[in-house]
Amino acid sequence: MSAGQVDPPARGSSFEIGIECPHCHEPWLRPSNLPGRYRCVNCLHRYELLSACPDCGSHATIARMSHTSDLQCSSCGAWMLTEI
Ligand SMILES: [Zn+2]
Ligand SMILES: [Zn+2]
Repeated sequence: MSAGQVDPPARGSSFEIGIECPHCHEPWLRPSNLPGRYRCVNCLHRYELLSACPDCGSHATIARMSHTSDLQCSSCGAWMLTEI
């Protein structure tokens, strides 16, 4: 039996690919080890999660990074991220 086989990342694990990078529009935005910080592993841009929408000023309830919707304003759909 071969033990050297690498399994693909488990579905439904702690992290799923799917957060789109506002810069390169590839789904490689990953939370960094700092809370509220994200990094795109494709273009290597870094982002910080804003507490209020830069467009309409609507405040977001940031529970946890999970889905793209958490990173976008629920009112106007603008990205709640700022490049750092
Ligand atoms: Zn990117
Ligand atoms: Zn907004």
